[in-house]
Amino acid sequence: MSDNSTKQFVIFGDPVEHSKSPQMQNAGFKNLNIDANYEKYHLKAEKLLKKTFMEKGIDGANITVPYKEAAFKQADEIVGVAEKIGAVNTYIKHDDKIFAYNTDAPGFMKAIEDFGEIKTVLLMGAGGTAKAIAVALKEAGIQVSVLNRSKNRLEFFKELGCKTFTWSSFMLDSFDLVVNSTSAGLKDDEFPFEKRRLENIFFNAKYAFDCIYGKETPFLKLASREGLKVKDGEDMLLYQGVLAFKLFTGQEAGVSTIEAMRAGLKNS
Ligand code: NDP
Repeated sequence: MSDNSTKQFVIFGDPVEHSKSPQMQNAGFKNLNIDANYEKYHLKAEKLLKKTFMEKGIDGANITVPYKEAAFKQADEIVGVAEKIGAVNTYIKHDDKIFAYNTDAPGFMKAIEDFGEIKTVLLMGAGGTAKAIAVALKEAGIQVSVLNRSKNRLEFFKELGCKTFTWSSFMLDSFDLVVNSTSAGLKDDEFPFEKRRLENIFFNAKYAFDCIYGKETPFLKLASREGLKVKDGEDMLLYQGVLAFKLFTGQEAGVSTIEAMRAGLKNS
């Protein structure tokens, strides 16, 4: 049972029912005996975000689809890489002000650490997640090519200094890492790009990462078959949470806390 001294955290989203963040963050609090509680909050309109955050008596929040850009606009202070991304997933209240962070970007970088050295990346997709990943990779001095189904979202990446392609303008090259940050494969069995052309890409690549987690997508299955080292999005989700945990509690999650959070994530 929580009382006034219990720190309160929520995740705002619409829909939010599917979110695994509460079970992950609560497992971390429990592991370190932190008096805190994390819940889902179904926010029905973006205009209610700041008001709800300020009036609900909560200490921090995560923000998920479709509010990450609205959360960026409504924050009082933007911290770190979030400024370049234009979207945030973490709010902290400090002296009645909202400090906003993007932990998806460093979470992704942490998740690809166990691949070998990466100098060139082909990033498929141009949505919110792709923006965070492209900024993180560029900050690390890595060359990024972005391939998207349609043209209109590519301008952001061009301005960031990425090479940009649509399906029709794509030219084959060799890449250390190929990332699927589209939603192809999430609720269907689609490839993010024509299968035959994807096979050629994998033939000239070393590693493949899919932001989708909890299933082997056609993208990852094909990459494995072509002999690439592969990873799904579980670690990205975990590490964005681990970084948010530190912002929420002021405490570093060590190995046992990270493993408790991973186990929390996997609880159905
Ligand atoms: P957005 O809706 O912002 O972007 C979706 C992107 O996918 C667009 O570039 C869109 O292209 C492309 N796309 C959609 N359907 C297809 C298709 N059938 N074939 C090719 N391209 C397609 O989504 P997000 O950026 O928020 O999320 C992207 C993925 O990342 C999702 O699968 C999500 O689950 C996952 N994710 C994982 C996280 C993690 O921690 N592991 C965190 C956040 C997201 P177009 O512009 O042409 O429409």
